[in-house]
Amino acid sequence: MKIRIDKARCVGNARCAAVAGDLYPLDDEGYIAVAEIDVPPGSEDLARRGARACPERIIVVDDTTT
Ligand code: SF4
Repeated sequence: MKIRIDKARCVGNARCAAVAGDLYPLDDEGYIAVAEIDVPPGSEDLARRGARACPERIIVVDDTTT
C-alpha cells in the first residue's frame, strides 16, 4: 500500500504525525516532509487513520499497489 501526499497544499498542522508519527515524517517547520510513503505491512490501519486526520484531505491512500 502506498500513500501519496499533495505536499504543496500541506498547511503544517501536524495532525497526520500526531496520529502516526512513524509513518508521516515532518520537516523542521511541521510540514509533511515526503510526497509518497511505502506503508510497511501491518501499518495499513494506522496509515489510513493518519490520512483521515488530515483536515486538508491531501493524503491519499493508494490500495492498488502492494
Ligand atoms: S495533517 Fe495534512 S496538512 Fe497537516 S501536516 Fe499532515 S499532511 Fe500537512
